[in-house]
Amino acid sequence: MNFTNSLDFALQMDAQDPLAKHKSEFIFPKMNDKPVIYFTGNSLGLQPKTAKTYVDEIMDNWATLAVEGHFHGSKPWWDYQERFAEPLSALVGAKPTEVTVMNTLSVNLNLLMVSFYRPTSKRYKIICEEKAFPSDQYLIQNQIKHHGFDPKDALVEVKRREGEHNFRMEDIVAKIHEVGAEAALVLIGGINYYTGQVMDMENITKAGHAVGAYVGWDLAHAAGNVALELNKWGVDFASWCSYKYMNAGPGSVSGIFVHEKHHHSNLPRFAGWWGHNKERRFLMEPTFDPVHGAEGWQISNLPVLSLAPYLASVHQFASIGMDVLIEKRDKITAYLDFILQEVAREVGGNFEVITPTDPQERASQLSVLLHGEGKTLFHQLMAAGVVVDWREPNVIRLAPVPLYTSYEDVYAFGVILKSCIQHK
Ligand SMILES: *Cc1c(COP(=O)(O)O)cnc(C)c1O
Repeated sequence: MNFTNSLDFALQMDAQDPLAKHKSEFIFPKMNDKPVIYFTGNSLGLQPKTAKTYVDEIMDNWATLAVEGHFHGSKPWWDYQERFAEPLSALVGAKPTEVTVMNTLSVNLNLLMVSFYRPTSKRYKIICEEKAFPSDQYLIQNQIKHHGFDPKDALVEVKRREGEHNFRMEDIVAKIHEVGAEAALVLIGGINYYTGQVMDMENITKAGHAVGAYVGWDLAHAAGNVALELNKWGVDFASWCSYKYMNAGPGSVSGIFVHEKHHHSNLPRFAGWWGHNKERRFLMEPTFDPVHGAEGWQISNLPVLSLAPYLASVHQFASIGMDVLIEKRDKITAYLDFILQEVAREVGGNFEVITPTDPQERASQLSVLLHGEGKTLFHQLMAAGVVVDWREPNVIRLAPVPLYTSYEDVYAFGVILKSCIQHK
């Protein structure tokens, strides 16, 4: 596609964009009475206008029905989470019984590892990527220690090659084969939070299974951003937070996936009454009889006030579908890349996009190394109404989220960026 660095071109792209109308369904923070250009939807998605309606519904039911809201609310609370199964499973390529919502992401990874990290003296190693998101590093190290092993021995990190920003698929597969029969679990981020690299989840899952390991995915940056086929790929388990691309609000409830092949296998797990056989849950029986499905990993009754904005968002995603999002995602990300190169050329700058250039390996995020620019640039951008994310020493992460970013936003960002660099 031939792009042009002009307002006319950007407006023309917006006029042809089937998603353009959805921008007005979100609430943008304002600066000097103008909506900001929001490039941090990979960190906290914007608020859909419908979120408040869903929350108010629960507040109203609570006010007028109190305890009766559990069974007689307009969306009863006792099975509120079941409303996610259909639309959310469609977004991650799963069957409805394979998906549910509960807790938050790091908690869920810990709970799922109770089932899927069962080390023995021979098979006890966990393979992950180096410099994984800190929470993942902490929880993996501590799971290993909890089972009496030493992370120095049991934690195997796949490295990037010297001087490279991204992982090579062949290195990940080679590492899995090297660990071989000692590999208990492969647990990697589906999209690297720092570089935006999209992993080849299908083939890494295959490689893990080939050596007899379980394979789980942290999909924090993948849910609502890339096409997932968790069932087809045979992934054992996965979890994601809902507040990044899924726009469910700060700290909102996480999603989990457990493949159907494990639904009748009596895997060990931590238990609570919300994972118990639904027909018999309120009989208050003494022995745990788990639901055969992802819901069998539930422990407590759900924080429905926190689920409400997530449901609003899932309904919005379901009405749009991932295909059209992905189509625009690739176009607008490419346009942003083009604009960055144009600005670099005009101001004699050197911006190195460290996100892979292969469209198969990138999604909504571009991570840009700004050679020769410092944090002043970040402050200038923020002051000019562009919300971006800064990582030391000089990386900005830009996420032109297709649901609510216009081509005009991307063009305007280029104008602001250029002016910031010229006036530093
Ligand atoms: C955002 C993110 C998390 C956050 O975990 P919480 O438990 O929701 O705080 C975890 N892992 C990755 C890879 C992330 O990007």
